Amino acid sequence: MAMVSMRQLLDEAAKGGYGVGAFNVNNMEQIQAIMEAATETQSPVIVQASRGARSYSQDRFLYHLMLAATEIYPDIPIALHQDHGNSPATCKSAIEMGFTSVMMDGSLMEDGKTPSSFEHNVKVTREVVEMAHARGVTVEGEIGCLGGIEDGHGAGGDGLEHLTDPEQAVEFVKQTGVDALAIAIGTSHGAYKFSSKPTGETLKMERLLEIHRRLPNVHLVMHGSSSVPQDLQDVINHYGGKLKPTWGVPVEEIQLGIKNGVRKINVDTDNRLAMTGAIRKVLVEKPEEFDLRAYMKPAREAMKKVVALRMQQFGQAGHAKDYKPIPLSEIAAMYKKEAVTA
Ligand SMILES: [Zn+2]
Repeated sequence: MAMVSMRQLLDEAAKGGYGVGAFNVNNMEQIQAIMEAATETQSPVIVQASRGARSYSQDRFLYHLMLAATEIYPDIPIALHQDHGNSPATCKSAIEMGFTSVMMDGSLMEDGKTPSSFEHNVKVTREVVEMAHARGVTVEGEIGCLGGIEDGHGAGGDGLEHLTDPEQAVEFVKQTGVDALAIAIGTSHGAYKFSSKPTGETLKMERLLEIHRRLPNVHLVMHGSSSVPQDLQDVINHYGGKLKPTWGVPVEEIQLGIKNGVRKINVDTDNRLAMTGAIRKVLVEKPEEFDLRAYMKPAREAMKKVVALRMQQFGQAGHAKDYKPIPLSEIAAMYKKEAVTA
């Protein structure tokens, strides 16, 4: 199956009332783990690459691994997404390479750190929407700023400083025409999200509900949504790791989000933890081992397990064969028609 537009994938998720996990990748084993989990659970998938991942993998390597995934797993709809594009130029290079979706994160300036003005955000996002939609490529924008930093990108803090203002979210969507909207409701990037188990109060779920009430047709995106399970932390620490105690976003809060317009859920940390724990275990238990495959195989298996579980929990499992991919050229024509009638 060719790569599909993320918009189509999310429209289908909205129809089916489920969410789709967007998993970050840097190398072959992570792509294989996701595709194996998708096959096992028959799930459509979003695979995403940050700027850091593209630079780590010299990006063409990553892109060709993704092409291999479409050949090896022809029954699974796959959207390839640029995570946190910092500028129209970054998004342009992703689109030119063949990504079917891009995030223009104009909530921060191009340095990926400094919170920007609403006007700046609208301007750069609008520019990317025009460029992307002309080629049938999906655009995710962000309004409000997530907490934490990952891959050198982020406003830092605990995620409560720049919560999304529902009024502004409505205006932002109107002025930019984005397909999906990342909102800040108190989540953060990275492993250290909360110092105790968060509740619907900590997470400002009420704000999410309010945004969904005002924008019922916009696909909402939850970033920083790893659950940071205790058992994955335990494996790392048991085998010599030194993670500080931490809590992630409980799956039940994500499921509440999915009932209220959340269609894309970004997960990275959980997969990093799973792979790191599996590698540590082999290296500690078999210190004589030096064949990479001896620890990359269990690492890949550990990530596959986490991804498959999330696919069940988000509800995307069983939906891989619900629809046929619409070619990007047809999606582009659809956007053009929308623009004319709007
Ligand atoms: Zn993010």
